[in-house]
Amino acid sequence: PRANDVGDSYWLPFTAMRQFRSNPMMFVGAEGMHYLAADGRRVLDAMAGLWCVNAGHAQPRIVDAIREAAGRLDFVSSFKMSHPAAFELAGRLTGIAPEGFDHVFFTNSGSEAVDSALKIARAYHRARGESGRTKLIGRAKGYHGMGFGGLSVGGIGRHKRDFGPLLPDVAHLSLPYDHPSMGFSRGRPETGAQYADELQSLLQIHDPATVAAVIVEPVIGSGGVYPPPVQYLERLRAICSRHGILLIFDEVITGFGRLGRPFAAQALNVAPDIITCAKGMTNGAVPMGGVLLRDFVFEAFMAGPPEAIELFHGYTYSGHPLACAAGLAALDVYEELGLFERTAAIAPTWEAALHSLRGEPHVVDIRNIGLLGVVELSPRSGEPGVRGGLCAQSCYEDGALVRASGDLIVLSPPLIIEEGQIEQVAVSVRSALRQID
Ligand code: PMP
Repeated sequence: PRANDVGDSYWLPFTAMRQFRSNPMMFVGAEGMHYLAADGRRVLDAMAGLWCVNAGHAQPRIVDAIREAAGRLDFVSSFKMSHPAAFELAGRLTGIAPEGFDHVFFTNSGSEAVDSALKIARAYHRARGESGRTKLIGRAKGYHGMGFGGLSVGGIGRHKRDFGPLLPDVAHLSLPYDHPSMGFSRGRPETGAQYADELQSLLQIHDPATVAAVIVEPVIGSGGVYPPPVQYLERLRAICSRHGILLIFDEVITGFGRLGRPFAAQALNVAPDIITCAKGMTNGAVPMGGVLLRDFVFEAFMAGPPEAIELFHGYTYSGHPLACAAGLAALDVYEELGLFERTAAIAPTWEAALHSLRGEPHVVDIRNIGLLGVVELSPRSGEPGVRGGLCAQSCYEDGALVRASGDLIVLSPPLIIEEGQIEQVAVSVRSALRQID
């Protein structure tokens, strides 16, 4: 099929439709590090699909596991029934999760994981007799999915503008470390821990006894890839603990190895109370998400008044057999390839390649942590986003898939990327930057 044959019947996400028409990227296959485009070209995937295909496309072991599961047990509800793979996967996930995260709730996406986590946070306080704790705190530039809960705590204006009213009783921290002047430093900013104290100020406006949870991406992802300053998350953690507020890490992007450990909580050595994940959970092969809970959160429901256990929340496809099979196979592959350790080992080479773009035309900042990076371009005057789009288009024509988000070039390759391919990505972006105006 050619892109122009698509017609009007199929809608891409609202804002993507026009871009697709002008620069169609139609894929018919994928394997390892590459997509196969409809025009027959192989394109190096420097985005891991959409931050999810951590072990590369069409991993044979995952493909086989899905096939086998589909022929054996196609569906079973998770209401009052289950199947062994769901328990096995839960056990494997809690095995790689940070210490004390002994419980999993399965969802079908990151958005559902976030909404579930927010509901669980409120229900946790209610189960403990603190029903006044309902407020939720997110961050500017935070992205937590497209459900009304995630949208409400999220901080990207254009995502929210046309869909209100959103949830009441939500507040946002600012993101004071989001300006390019911190620029070109490698890894995490050394200074900026004090920015977390804004939470303390916010709690003078919102009585802490009314706040259920603070939700943050440990590394802001969709909002522009901002690694947290050293000690920033630690301070958020301390303030939440002081006031009995749950801290949620949204690890939909950072989960499953992108920072060189299973979760960012481990890579950055800060323990939240709830973790949301998705994407890499099945290597992108079947939709799945999850909420990981520390023991005391789960136990509150079990120890609470009987009505707390009647907590009603769940999805038809929670713990779907195909997703569980894919999830188990993905964890096998990650483990066999030693993928998380490999990521930690190759990250400096990747970071050096990104930083070699410093000084190229239009580049105003480069940020990276693990295998999660961004090259920020200056916007063309009066035409924000155009330059980013042209750069991504030029890379694509040159055989490398990068993601333009406005004037940010987001780079987040499968964790199996080889050194030569890292070089190819850098060469592609460099020559794109030299060609566009
Ligand atoms: N949270 C974060 C941090 C994300 O990056 C995303 C997706 N990019 C989501 C939630 C939503 O996940 P999904 O698109 O699977 O609903």
